[in-house]
Parts: sequence; structure tokens; C-alpha cells
Amino acid sequence: MQTITNWLEVEKQHDSGVYNKHDVVIVRGKGAHVWDSEGNEYIDCVGGYGVANLGHSNPAVVEAVKKQAETLMVLPQTLPNDKRAEFYAALTGILPKELRRVFPCNSGTEANEAAIKFAMMATGKRKFVAAMRGFSGRTLGSVALTYEPKYREPFGPYGHEVVFVPYNNVEALREAVDTNTAAVFLEPVQGEGGVRPATPEFLQAARQVTQERGALLILDEIQTGMGRTGKRWGFEHFGVVPDIVTMAKALGGGVPIGAAVMTEAVANAMPKGGHGGTFGGNPLAMAAGVAAIRYLEDTRLWERAAELGPWFMEELRQIDSPKVREVRGLGLMVGMELKEKSAPYITQLEREHHVLTLAAGPTVIRFLPPLVISKEDLERVVEAVRAVLSGNPKD
Ligand SMILES: *Cc1c(COP(=O)(O)O)cnc(C)c1O
Repeated sequence: MQTITNWLEVEKQHDSGVYNKHDVVIVRGKGAHVWDSEGNEYIDCVGGYGVANLGHSNPAVVEAVKKQAETLMVLPQTLPNDKRAEFYAALTGILPKELRRVFPCNSGTEANEAAIKFAMMATGKRKFVAAMRGFSGRTLGSVALTYEPKYREPFGPYGHEVVFVPYNNVEALREAVDTNTAAVFLEPVQGEGGVRPATPEFLQAARQVTQERGALLILDEIQTGMGRTGKRWGFEHFGVVPDIVTMAKALGGGVPIGAAVMTEAVANAMPKGGHGGTFGGNPLAMAAGVAAIRYLEDTRLWERAAELGPWFMEELRQIDSPKVREVRGLGLMVGMELKEKSAPYITQLEREHHVLTLAAGPTVIRFLPPLVISKEDLERVVEAVRAVLSGNPKD
């Protein structure tokens, strides 16, 4: 096989083209930093879209993966496995006691697909209520619940009805949920939709109205889980316990993983063979998940997010620029909304300051740094943001 070194060119040539590619080739990561093929170091506030909460190549996860790779990588769910049992015990051990049955899978959208199907079976209904600006994933079940018309509309119509209500609008939510509703599907903090935390009233109303009308409450903790918001799970801020919680991203410490965790009643409604998946619960991902949860618990990283997040947001707010509309977030899930498009600033942060950030809608700069990031690195990020906002974006 031929060895190549023109990676950027080859990747762009053969890639499906669904992503806007940056002009760097990232080859390595450690903690809150990544390096490109020319040896340049970056502060990574993309964090793999919020996967790298424990830091890139976290040593505890690396060790667990190495060991498991040598032991057993794949095993279908019909065959019980030591690591899968350890993962279920560890995961349910850090969730409210009602959430005790786990459907393991490989990604966020798969976790939400599972939640949709379990909710249909548990209620016998197929209408869902979701939020405007909400994001649930890209596969056909989840994308129907994803608000952004550009993601959703080209692929409809869908087999399940979805009604969208304005996020944090209690009245609209109460109106939309009726006796035909299978579930209300919400993010505790909207990520893709611009980094928007829920109000306690909204999530509490969602819990109450679903209970009243025989629907389930499904909370998507794919981005907000594993310490990101300053607690283990986002819903802990709001005093609500859902019937199903979905998770993915940081759950495997960087290894692809997903899970829908549900109550006994919801799990029991699905017949044997009603759902499944070849790779779900594979020992490699399970070992990574066990290591990730242990690391999170040993270091109590959510406390770091709770401490650094508000400080970081305050520093960003101190940037005196007429271009800034608002800085908001929860823990280390932070968005800076501008009065203009954010993309040129994101590019400039990367090219001129070697700070990686991402968008959340057209005008927001989003920061999802590894929770292990140092205060010094965050100070450098603030300085870089200050510098790019003080000039004119180049493109
Ligand atoms: C990322 C994300 C998803 C989709 O997860 P994938 O692993 O990309 O399929 C769903 N919901 C939320 C809130 C997310 O942030």
C-alpha cells in the first residue's frame, strides 16, 4: 500500500463532503491540547464536540482500552460479559435509582432512536413534543425531533408526528402535550441551538405535564452529561428525574458509545427482539465507559466545571466589545452570542491564536473545553477572543 503525506488533499478528495473542512490536519491530543501535522499546538475548546471531558488520551481510559483490546473486543448482547456488567453497575450507580435499565449503543443519535422506540412501546403512542432550536441527532428517527429546518426538512415526511414548542415556554409546552403524546424530548441545556440553559420552571413543568397526561419525559444528556454543566448530569440542576435519559459523547472517555437508561416500566414494555444492535455493549466500549465513569468519580471533574465555568463566563463578559450580545451557559458549556456571524471569528481564533472553538447556530461561539483544562489555558482563550473581537474579521 502506498504511503501518503498529503493528508489534507486526500481527505478532501474522498470525503463525503458533508462537513466544512478546516485547513489543518490534527494528529495528536493530550489533555486540553491538540497538535497539527506541522507540530503546532492548539488549545482545544471543541473537545471533539464535547466528547473529551476527561481530556484527550486520558491515561486511565487509554490503559483500560489497551487491556480490553488484548482481552476481548466484541461480544453480542446475548452473551453476558464482565465489563458490560461493570459498566451497567457504574452507570446506574451515578443515576437516580429509578433509572436502572440500560440499552447500550454507539452514538448519541442511536441512543435517541432507542428512546423513541421504547417510548412508543411504553405508551402505545407516536406523537412527540420537542423544542425549537433542539438537536437530537441525524438519523431518521432523531432528525425528526431536530428543529433546524435545514437538517430536518429535506428528509421528511417522518413516521412519527413531532410538535415543536419554544424552549422555556411553559404555556406552549402544556398546550402541546395531550393524551396522544408518547414523550416530551428535551435537552437540559440546548447545545447546537445556541447554548441555552433551561429554566427550572420549564423542566419541572415538562415533568408534571407528562405525568398528568400519560407521556414520558426523555432528557437528552448527550452533551450535558458526564460533568459538563457542573453536575454529573444536567437534570440535577433542575430537580427532575426523567423516564429515559440518553447519553453518548463523553461517556466512553473518547471511545464511541451511547446509552439510553430508563425505568423498569419503560424497559419492560419492549418485547424481546424489539430493538438491538451488533456493536452495542461491546466489551471495548464498556471497558472505556467503566474507566471514564471511575475517573469522573475519582476526580469529581463536575466540580471543576462548576468552578471554572462561571469564572470563564465572567471573564468573557468583561471583554468590552459592542459585537457581543450575550455570554451564557452552564458549567463549562459556554456560548458567546455575537451581533454578527461567528464563523469568521472562529476561523481567526484557530489560525491566528491556535484556539479551537465551534459554532452553535450562526452567531454563537461555543466553548466545550475538556473539563481538565487549566485556568491559564482559559485565560489565554479569553485573551484570544478579546484580540479577535477588537479587529475586523478577515473573511
Ligand atoms: C451530539 C448530540 C446528539 C447526536 O449525537 P451523535 O453521537 O452525533 O449522533 C444528540 N443530541 C445532542 C444534545 C447532542 O449534543
